Amino acid sequence: MRYLVLSDIHANLQALEATLEAADAQHPWDVLLVLGDLVGYGGDPNAVVDRVRALAGALVIRGNHDKVAAGLMEATSFNPLARHAVEWTAAELTDTNREWLAALPEGPTLVDEGIEICHGAPFDEDAYLLGASDAGLAFATVERPLCLFGHTHLPAVFRHDQTGVYAAGSPKGDAYQVSLDEGRYLVNCGAVGQPRDGDPRAAFGLVNTDEQTVTILRVPYPVRAAQDRILAAGLPERLAQRLAVGR
Ligand code: ZN
Repeated sequence: MRYLVLSDIHANLQALEATLEAADAQHPWDVLLVLGDLVGYGGDPNAVVDRVRALAGALVIRGNHDKVAAGLMEATSFNPLARHAVEWTAAELTDTNREWLAALPEGPTLVDEGIEICHGAPFDEDAYLLGASDAGLAFATVERPLCLFGHTHLPAVFRHDQTGVYAAGSPKGDAYQVSLDEGRYLVNCGAVGQPRDGDPRAAFGLVNTDEQTVTILRVPYPVRAAQDRILAAGLPERLAQRLAVGR
């Protein structure tokens, strides 16, 4: 089975389209996994939700921006930029898309006998897994050898074996492959719509269960067009600028 892994699309339709195009052309997949935060920050929330809804058989869980935009949670924990964008998003969403987002399940969700997915962490969908100590807490609650997560917008690989929990490599470049072995893994395949690791290209993942690999891939997209959509929506300029630098 080949899983296409998308997280943190954040209403960036241009990045989503480029990612799907690259995946269809070069990285054939069977099932789509979406790890939350379809909306927030970007200028095309309805188009992104429509696009994901149209992908048959996708397994989608919610993120914190989806929760706030759908009216399930207050934006009190959000910084002013994120809050501005999520309030605009909430007003912009069609009733159908708001209801669809509100009905998304909370992770973690078990995908198959080897894989589970969550937005932030398996013990708390809103928690950030940034370092090995966070990963240690997460490994205590995961139920599958591979747990895919998002939320930080930073590609990362954590491994748990008899020596402990540690960051295993630093995912960079066009394609970074992890070979799964007897260890347990927490893998963040990065953000499609708002990368923050200094590489402005959209990030996504491909899990191949026959080959036991996870590959973190990058694809360029028309950043300028995505920026124009943010500015056209009247959202803060900083949200457009950050896309160009991937921060
Ligand atoms: Zn996010």
